[in-house]
Amino acid sequence: MNYAKLAELLFPHITKTPEDYDRIFPKRNLPEGAMVTRLGPSPTGFMHLGNLYGAFADERLAHQSGGVFFLRIEDTDDKREVEGAVDIIINSLNFFGVNFDEGATTEGDKGAYGPYHQSERAEIYQCFAKEMVKKGYAYPCFMTSEEIEAVKAKQEANKETPGIYGKYASCRELSYEEIEANIKAGKPYVIRLKSTGNPDATGEDVRYIQAEDAIRGTLSMPENFQDTVILKTNGIPTYHFAHVIDDHFMGTTHVVRGEEWLSTLPIHVELFDKVGWPLPLYCHTAQLMKIDEESGQKRKLSKRKDPELSLNYYRELGYHPQAVREYLLTILNSNYEEWRIANPNAPAEEFKFSVEKMGNSGVLFDLIKLNDVCKDVLVKIPASELRKFMLSWAKEFKPEVAHYFEENHEYIEKILDLGRTGDKPRKDLVYAQQILEFIGYFFDEFFKVTDSLPENVSEDDAKAILTRYLEGYNHSDDQSAWFDKIRTIATDLGYAAKPKDYKKNPEMYKGHVGDVSTVIRLAIVGRAQSPDIWEIQQILGEERTRARVKAAIH
Ligand code: GLU
Repeated sequence: MNYAKLAELLFPHITKTPEDYDRIFPKRNLPEGAMVTRLGPSPTGFMHLGNLYGAFADERLAHQSGGVFFLRIEDTDDKREVEGAVDIIINSLNFFGVNFDEGATTEGDKGAYGPYHQSERAEIYQCFAKEMVKKGYAYPCFMTSEEIEAVKAKQEANKETPGIYGKYASCRELSYEEIEANIKAGKPYVIRLKSTGNPDATGEDVRYIQAEDAIRGTLSMPENFQDTVILKTNGIPTYHFAHVIDDHFMGTTHVVRGEEWLSTLPIHVELFDKVGWPLPLYCHTAQLMKIDEESGQKRKLSKRKDPELSLNYYRELGYHPQAVREYLLTILNSNYEEWRIANPNAPAEEFKFSVEKMGNSGVLFDLIKLNDVCKDVLVKIPASELRKFMLSWAKEFKPEVAHYFEENHEYIEKILDLGRTGDKPRKDLVYAQQILEFIGYFFDEFFKVTDSLPENVSEDDAKAILTRYLEGYNHSDDQSAWFDKIRTIATDLGYAAKPKDYKKNPEMYKGHVGDVSTVIRLAIVGRAQSPDIWEIQQILGEERTRARVKAAIH
């Protein structure tokens, strides 16, 4: 077979040569050790936690080594494309502080290694598919889907490995004339790799490929023998071929991708080998898992069952990006938490991120832990910044409450800072939606009593407590004068002035001072638990405080 002639027959329109592309895409001029990483999402409009997890690793590796992090849109599967998806990808990652240096942007491509949409790179892929054909490493395959189905059925019956390979690859040995006739007859075809792997090898005869994985060490896997499709009937490549061509020419040094690609790594190794390029360093990240609420077992996060898989979940609930970032770092690098304890106030960027410290199986994603991290992160964010954060969240997701965060800065900031000053600041604030509910009682519109009276206190006693409280209320009392009054009310009405007195002799009292303050707390806050009531009253102001107590008496 004259492969050069076949290549011309299949790709007459391809005039550029591989050398042309070597000139068009010269090697990047970067300092020694600089890493080039990329994110290659499909434009499905759905951004998930795995994207963010990988993107953080990419971003850290590139930026901490003085390298480049770029965005490539993997849109070779047009069925999955969603309008505006690129904007969604860029905006949602940007929200979490992940920014690209190069690649697809909301205003078009930026960088010297584009186009950065795979759908616009057909000519480049075809040049190399042509080259593969020329070298006898690829061939056109005219098998119809019915024929492929029939092969599959036969393989199933014979308990053989499914796929198009060896004797099942019926177009492997077509003559030039047969191919030409098929093309003339208008038969659609794909271009397949003519694998040099041995489908019949068993036991010790099986050859193994080797590839370096920075997370997993040297990978050794049985070689590929499948005649994998590299170009689809429309001339657009499959993931496998696009990965090889793009990561080579775009100069990717570290391919960070999900472990679902591990099984097809032997195909990529064969393709790199056939085109004659060195392998990048792979970093196959572990699947994100959770503990299933029902079974208590670790399982993969699922799009259908777990809303927290979607990045929108965090945006809608108003998770602070810095907190999400902080938490992801704790699951990305096993030594991050230790570093954080030693450097409580350092910016996360100072942590030396390393691929070697990434988990290689089932990384546990735990919302409860995330919420704990949020509390620690939010407690350090000044109230003025939190107010702005609440405002921008509300504008997008709860416009009806945005005005609260826009109008009275001083009032809001006092509320947000409640109990957060001093040596032991309260860590009540988790995410915007929760904060809104948590501070809701500061706004008459949202105030409601949700908890019931302590069991030691009768309705009549509650009224008596509140009546006395209102009579004696002096807004300018300091905290201890205020509390002394509550103690007096307690003892006058038969409640112990101290919880421990009550514990010692419960038969002597109806309850203790804690029950009395709970009655007051319920009147003012509507809940049995809250930050310090005296401080809350100071923020609410005298009028509102009195009005709430009055309302509770009636
Ligand atoms: N488009 C692929 C995906 O979304 C990218 C995999 C890769 O990073 O190589 O899974």
